[in-house]
Amino acid sequence: MNSETQQHHLRVEVADWMTAHLSGEFACLQYRGGPGDEEAYPALRKKWERELASGGWTGLGWPKEQGGRAMSVADQVIFHEEYARAGGPGRMGHIGEGLLGPTLIACGTEDQRKRFLPGILKGTQFWCQGYSEPGAGSDLANVRTRAVRDENGNWRVHGQKVWTSLAHDSDWIFVIARTDAESRGNRGLSFLLMLLDQPGIEIRPIKQLNGGAEFNEVFFDGALAAAEDLVGTPGDGWRIAMTLLGFERGMSTLGQQMQFIRELEWVVDAAHEAGVANDPLIRQRIARAWSGLRVMRYNALRMLAGADADEGGGALGREALIYKYYWSNWHRELGQLAMDVLGPDANVIDRADAKRTRLQGVFLFSRADTIYAGTNEIQLNIMAERGLGMPREPRGTQ
Ligand SMILES: Cc1cc2nc3c(=O)[nH]c(=O)nc-3n(C[C@H](O)[C@H](O)[C@H](O)COP(=O)(O)OP(=O)(O)OC[C@H]3O[C@@H](n4cnc5c(N)ncnc54)[C@H](O)[C@@H]3O)c2cc1C
Repeated sequence: MNSETQQHHLRVEVADWMTAHLSGEFACLQYRGGPGDEEAYPALRKKWERELASGGWTGLGWPKEQGGRAMSVADQVIFHEEYARAGGPGRMGHIGEGLLGPTLIACGTEDQRKRFLPGILKGTQFWCQGYSEPGAGSDLANVRTRAVRDENGNWRVHGQKVWTSLAHDSDWIFVIARTDAESRGNRGLSFLLMLLDQPGIEIRPIKQLNGGAEFNEVFFDGALAAAEDLVGTPGDGWRIAMTLLGFERGMSTLGQQMQFIRELEWVVDAAHEAGVANDPLIRQRIARAWSGLRVMRYNALRMLAGADADEGGGALGREALIYKYYWSNWHRELGQLAMDVLGPDANVIDRADAKRTRLQGVFLFSRADTIYAGTNEIQLNIMAERGLGMPREPRGTQ
């Protein structure tokens, strides 16, 4: 079978599987979940993860010896496109499967891989990311959470994380903590895996402006991280943390674009319904949004092909530098366009009007897109320094 035929078969197989399985009790999950809608059916979406796993649709890019399917980038793209086209729900297992799993494969011990990868693959163990702190966001190296060894050689963690997405729905958290009390900046940090349900950890939800509470503050007061749950060596945490971030721009971005296509369709429908489809400025902005989507798609394919050649090791090319900046600003503009199309109605909340509510949701959540996974200003700094070779800005703490 040539690769085009094989890819066509895969596309049909995924589409058929989604039709057959995103039905019955899972039907209500269609188009639900994901950023801005994480509070939709969390328990059922976890069950859906197990459904995906039993169909063999987790760990697609992971090596076979780690329980994955070692699929090519092209095949993974097909899966994510068909998943999104069918309205597959936002993935509860994304942080484990997309971020921690590949990091443990790259940097973990055999024992860590044995203990953690199966639960991630089977959709029975959920993870969250404990990086940001009140004084360490863009300047992540300023982490103050500290871990000290106890008499048994384990680590006791003290401090606070913030903006921890889905901590309240997770089983485990990976944490960057300072294990060398004398150190500054990105030295002396370690990467720890911690069970969330234990004495010494308190999770407090943060209420968002869209009414939800998808992320949390997480407080550590002497909580335990077992000696064998430190990834790499003490002091090597920055390298591990950066390896993980290299996986953040991964494959699922293509599925995200299918969601963007759908949102643009909602905006076009709303323009017709609001009688502004003939407004020349609105039409131009819609056309610009459409062309932006095409640019995004081809840039993502270029970026992922580069990552494939690098076997996902995190050394993404220049395309990756512009990618996050491009999609997040595109999405924020789409949210603004949606509000302009709705006109004065955009200012009124009416939960009975599902179409209006979903566009308001796009607007509100898209404001966060240019903050998480690197703010606009940080992305521009990175492009200037790494892409264009301009002088590094002064770093106070490194
Ligand atoms: C929806 C959402 C989900 C998140 N989920 C998680 C999560 O699960 N786990 C986690 O650890 N974190 C999470 N975060 C936190 C996110 O990583 C941080 O918000 C982000 O890194 C920015 O840090 P900060 O909020 O501390 O802002 P700051 O770093 O304080 O930045 C404030 C402003 O200053 C600007 N600025 C900062 N430094 C510079 C500079 N050197 N040059 C120019 N301008 C600068 C920034 O661009 C920004 O405009 C999430 C955030 C959001 C919005």
